[in-house]
Amino acid sequence: MKFISVLLISFLLLPTQLIVAAEVNVYSARKENLIKPLLDRFTEETGIQVNLVTSQADTLIKRMQIEGRNSPADILLTVDVARLYRTKEHGLFKSIDSEILLNAIPEHFRDKDNEWFGLSLRSRVVVYAPERVNVDALSSYEDLANDKWKNRICVRSSGNVYNQSLVAALIAHNGIEATEQWATDFVNNFARKPKGGDRDQIKAMATGVCDIALVNTYYLAGMLNSDQSEDIEEAAKVKLFWPNQANRGAHMNVSGAGILKHGPNQKEALQLLEFLVSDEAQHWYAETNHEFPVKPGISASNILKSWGEFKADNLDLNLLGENNQQAVLLMDRASWK
Ligand code: FE
Repeated sequence: MKFISVLLISFLLLPTQLIVAAEVNVYSARKENLIKPLLDRFTEETGIQVNLVTSQADTLIKRMQIEGRNSPADILLTVDVARLYRTKEHGLFKSIDSEILLNAIPEHFRDKDNEWFGLSLRSRVVVYAPERVNVDALSSYEDLANDKWKNRICVRSSGNVYNQSLVAALIAHNGIEATEQWATDFVNNFARKPKGGDRDQIKAMATGVCDIALVNTYYLAGMLNSDQSEDIEEAAKVKLFWPNQANRGAHMNVSGAGILKHGPNQKEALQLLEFLVSDEAQHWYAETNHEFPVKPGISASNILKSWGEFKADNLDLNLLGENNQQAVLLMDRASWK
């Protein structure tokens, strides 16, 4: 009897032991509410369970380095090309062979060795207080070094990766020497010592601390779309200006992802990445984050559309990663705190 029940129990357990649910582990530097519904949709469509670990990008990169070969991470999802580049430099990503990704994502928004891929776009733009700035006085990032802007500019610190990437782009376009001179003069125009995030620069402008700021597009869109009336009022006091429309276009950056070399679920990871460039996912992801879809032909949110068509710089983003170190050193020499 005992033998039979043991046999029966083992038999009953057998099927569940054999069925290993397909899963994929995502390390994400994006806030959970900005990505979770999309991952749920993926699970619905494929039956693949997504395990999400959310933290700061640099914390996740460090964690994967410590975990080494035993890392459970299949996908890293993060913002700013400099971080994707850093992950690649640490040898954590693997090269991905996917026609779907190559066809969906323009070449300058993905890694040249196919180790990371942009999933959404943002521009770092000029915002200005129309009460105090005549829009005709604005033109380019380069022009922000002009002393007509003395004590009028707010921007966050040089430790911020978005500023580093902008400076890396300026190095790519204008060279180190010219960019160092630019940064020195730009810093001389600061209205205050850099502090806070991009939203704080908009708030400072709304209260008259400065007249111009550099911010990523989704922060302004997020404030305009906020459920806090204070955010909306402050954002309504500033206007967006697309820089460098007469020449190369506005500076662009990405949020993106790559597949980790040591991840245990490579096949599922690729399925998820390919899902993220589907038309449906591209639209939802961009809209939810107030970003531009990376895939051409997918429409952006109404707020983004209300800012009109603009010329985007099509600089190869690989250069932003390559120039990051130089940018950090240069900003330090220019006393950009
Ligand atoms: Fe951000």
